[in-house]
Amino acid sequence: MIGILEDKDRIFTNLYGFQDWTLDGAKNRGAWNATKDMLDLGRDWIINNVKASGLRGRGGAGFSTGLKWSFMPKEVKDRPHYLVINADESEPATCKDREIMRHDPHLLIEGALIASFAMQAHACYIYLRGEYVLERERMEAAVKQAYEGKLIGKDNVHGWDFDVYIHHGAGAYICGEETALLESLEGKKGQPRLKPPFPAGAGLYGCPTTVNNVESIAVVGTILRRGADWFASFGRPNNTGTKLMSLSGHVNTPCVVEEAMSIPLRQLIEDHGGGVRGGWGNLKAIIPGGASCPVITREQAETVMMDFDSMREVRSSLGTAGVTVMDESTDIVKAIARISYFFKHESCGQCTPCREGTGWMWRVLERMAVGEADPSEIDLLLDVASQVEGHTICALGDAAAWPVQGLIRHFRHEIEDRIANYRSRRANFAGHAIAAE
Ligand code: NAD
Ligand code: SF4
Repeated sequence: MIGILEDKDRIFTNLYGFQDWTLDGAKNRGAWNATKDMLDLGRDWIINNVKASGLRGRGGAGFSTGLKWSFMPKEVKDRPHYLVINADESEPATCKDREIMRHDPHLLIEGALIASFAMQAHACYIYLRGEYVLERERMEAAVKQAYEGKLIGKDNVHGWDFDVYIHHGAGAYICGEETALLESLEGKKGQPRLKPPFPAGAGLYGCPTTVNNVESIAVVGTILRRGADWFASFGRPNNTGTKLMSLSGHVNTPCVVEEAMSIPLRQLIEDHGGGVRGGWGNLKAIIPGGASCPVITREQAETVMMDFDSMREVRSSLGTAGVTVMDESTDIVKAIARISYFFKHESCGQCTPCREGTGWMWRVLERMAVGEADPSEIDLLLDVASQVEGHTICALGDAAAWPVQGLIRHFRHEIEDRIANYRSRRANFAGHAIAAE
């Protein structure tokens, strides 16, 4: 099914916090229902169903969740297994996981138990972004309720000893990269590791570990209760399920909403965001999935769908589905320069292309925003972006390069106009100065 989701098909039934978030409220809405029965069906049943649902990682990369789980060793040998939940939600324009932790924390804890059982982990760490103080308090309270209700902990009603630890980050964007997150959890400086090895081979404390996004884990209980086919019936093949999407920027009603994958972007904006400020014709550009995704134009936004494949066709990506709408009043060069500053600021500095390239791109863009550049620098900027892309330890390098490439692909003429204007203003000024002499 593609299009607007019916209420009965929403997984997050308390997304806006109008109902009781506590254990009692969560149970009334279906959480922790038949969880033991699901575990009794066995690890293979769980992993096969998650695979069959088509669930792809909701943190941005879209890697198959069931496949990732299947990479964990089949037997526990000398090292314990761990589940780590990435709640370091820091991608600009992305604010979906916080709604889950605020309003439906038990869906996350239940999903963590099921996933940990499937991967034979007795411990789960939830790594929260530094700014998420309310979310940490809410998660801690919900974990306490789950312990008191004997749903988790030693000798719990599910027959799988399971502990949950909440770890509060210190506010570094790079700690959302899964291996930097693991380093940080181990008490070290949050810097990404080279991959491979992937965490399933050597993760937390060198032990087999799976790192999953909050939303990816929080949907698991409902998928297994309602069936893999039910989840897979939304969206398109390879892009299935429901998905939390955030809408911000120049829309009339910014929001977070759960929708069927593959909903047309325009429909999402008009039906949930109240439309573009000033009407669709006033739309200039959209960043569809968080700051690292290349910008797309109004023409592309007419037809593109909110899924992995459709976004790839317009040379962008679904990312976190954190949509930023920019109307005609937007200074697009300045906006991308600001994003470049963000990545420069958040680079951990380990690799030279990222450490030097992010600062270089930002400084050139700042000059271009006022036209103070040479036209040849546009291609030079593209060249530097391509030297950063794919030549770094982690994806932050790519994330810094893509918005710059998207800007030049679609708005090169704006940069050229600014440079020409700047030059003619300088020439006029010089002419006046000579005349005055
Ligand atoms: P990635 O594609 O390298 O990896 C995705 C996941 O798949 C990882 O868990 C990785 O371990 C696993 N994986 C990939 N290839 C594998 C293999 N061959 N064997 C075993 N496991 C494998 O992407 P990434 O660097 O983890 O994430 C990048 C994405 O993160 C970006 O697209 C961006 O949208 C997103 N992001 C999200 C946030 C946020 O706040 N949610 C912040 C920054 C970036
Ligand atoms: Fe650090 Fe940037 Fe290298 Fe990632 S790409 S490891 S953030 S320097």
